[in-house]
Amino acid sequence: MNAHTKTAFSRRPTDRPVAADVRADLLKDPGFGKVFSDHMVVIRWTKDRGWHDAEVCARAPVTLDPAAAVLHYGQEIFEGLKAYNLSDGTIALFRPDQNARRFQQSAARMAMPELPEAVFLQAVDELVKIDTAWIPKGDGSLYLRPFMFATEAFLGVRPSHEYLFMLIASSVGSYFKGGEKPVTVWLTDRYTRAAEGGTGAAKCGGNYASSLLAQAEAMENGCDQVVFLDAAEHRWVEELGGMNVFFVMDDGSLVTPPLSGTILPGITRDAIITLARKEGRTVREERYSIDQWRADAASGKLKEAFACGTAAVVASIGKIKSSAGDIVISDGTTGPVTSAIKARLVGIQRGEVADEFGWVHRIK
Ligand SMILES: *Cc1c(COP(=O)(O)O)cnc(C)c1O
Repeated sequence: MNAHTKTAFSRRPTDRPVAADVRADLLKDPGFGKVFSDHMVVIRWTKDRGWHDAEVCARAPVTLDPAAAVLHYGQEIFEGLKAYNLSDGTIALFRPDQNARRFQQSAARMAMPELPEAVFLQAVDELVKIDTAWIPKGDGSLYLRPFMFATEAFLGVRPSHEYLFMLIASSVGSYFKGGEKPVTVWLTDRYTRAAEGGTGAAKCGGNYASSLLAQAEAMENGCDQVVFLDAAEHRWVEELGGMNVFFVMDDGSLVTPPLSGTILPGITRDAIITLARKEGRTVREERYSIDQWRADAASGKLKEAFACGTAAVVASIGKIKSSAGDIVISDGTTGPVTSAIKARLVGIQRGEVADEFGWVHRIK
């Protein structure tokens, strides 16, 4: 499979698509990650043949040998991106080339083969085209989930010699049930997400598996998400379980933790830094401690805080709860800077604000 020429995808459309009226019903209030489209993409990789047998087919369960390496040693990575209906009737993706590249970087870290960028992009185009009817109108989108895992039946510990790349799609509405209301986050003082030299910068299932207990603790404490501190000193704010974090200071500047290898290099994070600098805002990628957060919230130096990622785009953080007491940032409304950044970004994604950076990829 050549990275520069179009790959031959065999197309086998489902003969049992979901009926249009049933689909319309599902799309009314799809929530997040529960409603799936009719098709999927599958591409195989073996040590001997490399990437082969790319196909678009009916969404269906996968058969795995019980000894498949992923089930034992967790060799798995994924991506997440969205397809939108633009107001002019076309369909667009936001910076899918960045997802393709990050997928390669995650693969490299997990000792997996890298899917050529062009093949990744073609897979996305193929699925979006065949499942266009699953893109909700209005605010919703089609959340695309590319992933890859080790399928070789072998219990020895070494990188697998066989993998499956798959791409599925889920019709989604708003990510957080509360909608625009600021979220409350739980500061865990027991668990960490990633340590130096670990897999924190790779988008792998294992990072999520190890964050779930903290996430459960967050929910028990009435919070929507967890905020993790660094593993070495338990001082520096890193990110949420699946979103990067920004602080808005009283001089209008933004602070966000640097990409040190222990946090995930978010594409939304990168877009926000680029947009904020373009409009003349100072953005500092520097470490910010939890004590500073507490002090700045108390003194009023910290005006707003928000989390960002593909799924929720931008979510205002209203309050942090922790065993050492709460930090209140907002009075229950999303602050003006957070709102403006979100509006600008969503506007670009939706084709309503000029796309100066060439981020919007239209599906033809
Ligand atoms: C995917 C992800 C993000 C956000 O990345 P985006 O590219 O903006 O969607 C942030 N943190 C973690 C841990 C993630 O897995």
